[in-house]
Amino acid sequence: MTDFKISDEQKQYQQLARDFAQKEVAPEAGRLDHSGEFPTPLYKKAWELGLMNVLIPEEYGGLGLKVLEACLISEEMGAGCTGFGAALEANNLAAAALIVAGNEEQKKRFLQPLTQELSFAAFCLDERTAGSDLFDLKCTATRVGDEYVIQGQKLCVTNGVTARWHCVIACTNPEAEHEGLTAFIVPAENENIATGRKLSLLGHRASDSRNLTFQGVKVPAEFRIGEEGEGLAICTKAFKLTRPLMGSAAVGLARSAMEHAIRYAKERNTFGTPIANHQAVGFMLADMAKDIEAARLLCWQAAWLADNGLPGTREAAIARTFAVDMAMKVAIDAVQVFGGYGYSCEYPVEKLMRDAKMMQIQHGTSTLQKAAIGRLMAGVH
Ligand SMILES: Cc1cc2nc3c(=O)[nH]c(=O)nc-3n(C[C@H](O)[C@H](O)[C@H](O)COP(=O)(O)OP(=O)(O)OC[C@H]3O[C@@H](n4cnc5c(N)ncnc54)[C@H](O)[C@@H]3O)c2cc1C
Repeated sequence: MTDFKISDEQKQYQQLARDFAQKEVAPEAGRLDHSGEFPTPLYKKAWELGLMNVLIPEEYGGLGLKVLEACLISEEMGAGCTGFGAALEANNLAAAALIVAGNEEQKKRFLQPLTQELSFAAFCLDERTAGSDLFDLKCTATRVGDEYVIQGQKLCVTNGVTARWHCVIACTNPEAEHEGLTAFIVPAENENIATGRKLSLLGHRASDSRNLTFQGVKVPAEFRIGEEGEGLAICTKAFKLTRPLMGSAAVGLARSAMEHAIRYAKERNTFGTPIANHQAVGFMLADMAKDIEAARLLCWQAAWLADNGLPGTREAAIARTFAVDMAMKVAIDAVQVFGGYGYSCEYPVEKLMRDAKMMQIQHGTSTLQKAAIGRLMAGVH
């Protein structure tokens, strides 16, 4: 039986995240957007409050929160600043690969340190020729004795420079297509990893994304996650945990855009009345509210399925896709409600529009997600 009641403990996590996001993150969001600074002190506070790496099980020092609880936190972080939240999501994604498929030794060695001091991890999948098309991954991992040698480039890696370790998906068998991909833990401290400059982005400017080149990087075979050929399956399982979180961050962003729009619509007068009284504006606000509620519930459903070990790949993809597309629309409408001021960088909503666009692209575009949902529904590959 499903119920929509949040427990007192869940409310506490939500409130903790809300207080932090609204008191510490949101007031800094505009400044960070302009400066593009990576806000280490803010991450330190988030880490101290237990708001990072929340999915890591208790036996490895984490809080071991359920996906639903992590969604509550992600929504609040998204309402504060999704650019700030991007580093948290990257940590979650890299950790998720280990949570779903790592062995005991790997979890102790790589998950535990994330809970012992502020540190970051990165997830390295996409490449120049292979963002959507993973058949075309060029980064290879070649077994040589007890080691693998990793060779290739990964693009736009969030936390690429700050990460202590990377989860790298590389090709171990080019003939086997999707079954030829394998996941590895690659410690970042390695002179054969070349880190590019920080990418200049349209939005999410507080995050740090870079291209990484692995130039014959050697990793011991025990750093392979799962078996050879399981890389794609590991990604799918990890995404089942993290897609509801990404969707929830988009819900938070949309909530923030709606709250700005409501405030402005009550203050701004035209034709002798607040613009909120014009039906066209009221409809925009109403659409925002209904779509935000719908997206939140989809994310919660996907989280609930993951928490209960039920099949939910399709639901996680639906939740994330609906939520990010919804956030984009809400942010655009918020700009519309603000009129000319909405287009001005002196007001907060244009940043939200730029940030929302990122969410439709990162970790698989929403277009591609829709294509995958269609295939799942039709039972074709
Ligand atoms: C700021 C930033 C941070 C990122 N962080 C990370 C990270 O931490 N780790 C990581 O691995 N990657 C990361 N990425 C990469 C991101 O996940 C990819 O950009 C994304 O998956 C899209 O891949 P692509 O850019 O190669 O686009 P392409 O695959 O070239 O797609 C181009 C367009 O074609 C469409 N398209 C392609 N194939 C199809 C199809 N079959 N059907 C319908 N439409 C299709 C796409 O939807 C898109 O609109 C990041 C990107 C950015 C910009």
